[in-house]
Order: sequence, then structure tokens, then C-alpha cells
Amino acid sequence: MNAYEQLKNLADALAPRLTADRRSLHRYPETGWLEMRTSAIIHERLTSLGYACLTGAKAVKPDERLGLPDPGTLRRHAEAALAQEGTPAAFLTEEMRQGITGVIGELRCGEGPVIALRFDIDALGLTERADEGHRPAREGFASRNPGMMHACGHDGHAAIGLGVAEALMTLRDQLRGTVRLIFQPAEEGARGARALTAAGHLDDVDFFIGNHVAPTRALDDGDVTVGTWGSLATSKLDVLFTGQAAHAGGFPEQGRNALLAAASAALALHGIPRHSGGQSRVNVGVLRAGTGRNVVPDRAEMQVEVRGETTKINRFMEAEARRVCEGAALTWGCGCQVTLAGQAEGQRSDPELIRRVGEILRETLPDIRLSSEQNARNWGSEDISIMMNRVQARGGLATYMRTMTDMASPQHTAGFDFDEAVLPLAVKVFGATVLGLMGVKK
Ligand SMILES: [Zn+2]
Repeated sequence: MNAYEQLKNLADALAPRLTADRRSLHRYPETGWLEMRTSAIIHERLTSLGYACLTGAKAVKPDERLGLPDPGTLRRHAEAALAQEGTPAAFLTEEMRQGITGVIGELRCGEGPVIALRFDIDALGLTERADEGHRPAREGFASRNPGMMHACGHDGHAAIGLGVAEALMTLRDQLRGTVRLIFQPAEEGARGARALTAAGHLDDVDFFIGNHVAPTRALDDGDVTVGTWGSLATSKLDVLFTGQAAHAGGFPEQGRNALLAAASAALALHGIPRHSGGQSRVNVGVLRAGTGRNVVPDRAEMQVEVRGETTKINRFMEAEARRVCEGAALTWGCGCQVTLAGQAEGQRSDPELIRRVGEILRETLPDIRLSSEQNARNWGSEDISIMMNRVQARGGLATYMRTMTDMASPQHTAGFDFDEAVLPLAVKVFGATVLGLMGVKK
């Protein structure tokens, strides 16, 4: 039996564990930089399998983390995570408790390419459906963390990563090169990739592969799309306007109205000119201001995002947005502080890697159907782009794949769930890709 046959058998045998892991993570979802239980579980599993593990500041550069929760939230979540079922306390490090989450596992098998695989692990700020019509609720694995939910499938991604870790460790005698498994925190809101990339984990990578579960589409004829391109570059901005409170009846002239500054900015932001070079977006999604009817508001908080079809267009949008906010603040005599809360770039999978991976999968996993559109267009934004661009800038090749699965409700909705048959399938796809790129005989 060759390595690919062994891989298929291993992945099929692992299926019950993959489902159990996915459901355990689904039950205790953790949003960006709070993936403490999740990171501890991954840390323990990789260590026990024999991987060299990096965690804390060795995995992500702390100063480059975007959109951090406040210290109180971190502290409360750490206490909750420690008390939850299945949390391996010894692997929940002090750094993880401080929100330096994420784990990297590495397996070195002599001379050969460095292959990095990326699995994102965070959940969304969303309340999961609790009615019997929703399978996770009916079968007892719906979220027990209030206001958090795995509604994008990253619970599956983490479980797939653990499955790949086990399969490749079992096949290690046949590997030639280095496997780096990157379990990435804080993908939602595009906050984590930057901190991982800044820590240098993409600098020596020859092949980089990511994957997202995606809904089976009537028009899409395959199980796997080998490459994708075109997700939008984006910047998430937190804007704080500060003014001066005053008695609205007695001394309004002494006030500086932060609410009006924010309101002016909100309207002007949506008036940023469209870019002739491609698509752009802007959205003011949150505006909170004011304390009472008869008080001139001295504080307004705004959450804004801009996007662009290319990194360049997004940079234009971000620069315009910053100028508009500062200009509006000036108009109303207020202060303005703009903080970058998330960031992604444009991305493009390498045609050469798409070709090679397609060939490997066609030859070694003939039962898995490749989508006829091998390089599909993405919308939305994904911070894997930052990692892909880094690899590509250093001469490596990168691709971002899709594995198709039936979904109960669209991603990012309260009724989301997916067909877990995709878990062993993705383990096979990742595993065969690594074997093939390392030149293991078919
Ligand atoms: Zn996602």
C-alpha cells in the first residue's frame, strides 16, 4: 500500500474523532484573541503527537495583534475557559490567558520543501439558534459561550488541522521536508494574520496552502476548488470622536458636539469617490454617541470598514476615510482618533501551484471531484491574503482552496451547520497535497 492509500485509510478511520473534535470546539466557541481553550486543546494534541510547538509570543507578535478585547474580557474569558469541560489546563499558558493565542506545530523530516498549512480557529460574535430544528441544539453541541458561535466553519478547520497533524505524523517516515501547521487566531475581522506574519512564520515557506469550507452550489460541480482569487482588501477602522460636554440649555456655546462630528463623518464617508481602478466599498456599521437629551455629547464611537478590489484601491479608501474623519472632527471642534482594528489584502492563488495541486489530487484521490473552475472568484475579505502575499513576495507559491459541503443555513447566520463528511475529505486533500509536493511516489 502506498502512502496515498494509507492516508485515505487513516482519514476514514479518523472520521469519528474529527466529528468529536469539531463538536467539542463548536460547543465552546471563542472569538478572536479569546481562543484559549481552543489553543490549549491544539497545543496538547500537537505536543502529544510529537510536534514541536510554538505558542504565545513565539507564534504571534503581540504588538501586531489587531482588535484586541479589553483586559477585563480577557480575564473573565480565561477563567471561564479553564473551568470548561475538556480544557487541558496544563497547556493553557499564561500568554494564552493574556490573549496571545494561536499555535504552530512543526514536523521536520530532512531535506525538502517547507510546506505551511493554515487553519483558522476563531468563532463569531453571534448567538446560536437554540431550537430543536437546529441540529447542534438538538444533538447537544450548540454553543455554551453566550454571544459566540462557530458560524463560519472554523471549528471544522481546526478539527481538520488536528486530523492532518495525526495523519502526517503517522506517515512521517515517507515525508521529505518540513510541515508547518499554522492554527491561526482572530481571522474574523481580519485581525490575526498580520501578527503571525510579523513573527516570521511565512518567510521561508516554499508552498502555502489554505482552505475554507464553502457551500455546495447547484452550479458548482465539484468537491474541491484548488485555487481562489480576488477577495477584497480591507481595513477596519475604530474611530473615536471626543468633544466637550455642556448644558444644552444653559451653556451650549461651551460644548463641542462629538455626535455631530461623527454624524457628519458618517455621511461624508459614504461620499468617498468610487475608484476607476476597480471595485471599492465603504460602510459605517456602528455609531454610538451621547449620554442624555439635555447634554451636548462629548464622545462618539464609530466602526467603519473600507474595501478595495486591490490592496492599492483599499489604501486609497483608507486614506480618504481617515481624512474625512479628521476633517469632520475639525469642523465641529472635536478630537479624532482612528485605530486600525483589522486588515486584509488582495490575493491571488498561484496558477503554477493550482496546476500542480490539481494534478496531484486527480492522480491520487480520483474519487474526489475537482471543480471545473479551478481558480474561482472570492468576494468578502480574508486575512489569509497577508500570509499568501508574504510567501509570494519571498518567492514561494500559495493557494487558497475551497472544500464544498452542504450547509443548513448560510455562513455567519445563527442557524449555520455543515455536513461533517467534509472533514475527512479535507484531511485527504491536505495530506495528499503535502505528500505530492514532497515528491512522495504515487
Ligand atoms: Zn471563515
